[in-house]
Amino acid sequence: MRITAPPAMAMACHCKGCQKLTSGAYSLTLMLPIAGFEVEGETQLGALHRAESQHHYCTRCLSWLYTTSPGLEQMGFLNFRPTMLEDASWAVPFIESQTAEKLPGAATGARYSFKAWPPPSEYGRLMQEYAAEGARPR
Ligand SMILES: [Zn+2]
Repeated sequence: MRITAPPAMAMACHCKGCQKLTSGAYSLTLMLPIAGFEVEGETQLGALHRAESQHHYCTRCLSWLYTTSPGLEQMGFLNFRPTMLEDASWAVPFIESQTAEKLPGAATGARYSFKAWPPPSEYGRLMQEYAAEGARPR
C-alpha cells in the first residue's frame, strides 16, 4: 500500500462490530483521500455481515487493511487502518465514536467523544480543526 496524501481525520471507534473485527477495545481509522491511496495486488473482502461497508483484508496475512463504503466513496475517502503503518505512533485519534458501547478501561486520547457518530453538521468543523491541529507523521 502507498499513501501520498495526508489523512482528513483520525478516529477511534468503540462499536461492538469494531471490537469483534479487531479483537481489541476499539478500531483505529485514518480517513484517507482515495486519490492519495494505492494498493498493489488484490485484497480479500471479509466481515460481510454489514452490506454497506466493504472490509478489505490482506490475502497473505489476513489482516484488516481498510474499509470502503458507497457513502465514504461519494465523499472521496476510505477508512485506512493505521496499525498497518510501519510507524503508527503518531496516529492519535482526534475523535472517538460509539462510546455508548465502549469497553470498561478503554481510553483513546481523542479530543472529542461521541456516544454514537458525530453529527454530519459537525464534519466540516471537525475536519478543518484536524487539518490545522491533528496528528501528522513524524
Ligand atoms: Zn465501529
